[in-house]
Amino acid sequence: MSDCLFCKIIAGEIPSGKIYEDDDVFAFKDIHPKAPTHVLVIPKTHIATLADCDDAALLGTLMLRVKYIADEVLQLAAGYRVIINVREGGGQEVFHLHIHILGGKHLPF
Ligand code: 5GP
Ligand code: ZN
Repeated sequence: MSDCLFCKIIAGEIPSGKIYEDDDVFAFKDIHPKAPTHVLVIPKTHIATLADCDDAALLGTLMLRVKYIADEVLQLAAGYRVIINVREGGGQEVFHLHIHILGGKHLPF
């Protein structure tokens, strides 16, 4: 989607701190980190919000990649938090589906 910030990051039109990429997903550092480690994992296809997605295979792939990135790439052995903000009321600001991975410190609820 041409006017989507995260599609532009995937395309390399906007610089990002890329930490992982494969055929299906792209992962990069959040520009305003809320924890010592704060990474966003996004599908390469433009999906505005979780509420718009019924693709079980894609959602499954995303969660498996989140696990791989947290455990193997970021080495968050002590644990981490996974967040998806959905629509404005859920705090979503960028309308390209993304999963936050937060870690690197103790995260009480
Ligand atoms: P949301 O509130 O939509 O769940 O999260 C959007 C996230 O994207 C925010 O945590 C925000 O800091 C991050 N963000 C917004 N613009 C950029 C950008 O240009 N580059 C990067 N790396 N992160 C961004
Ligand atoms: Zn997009």
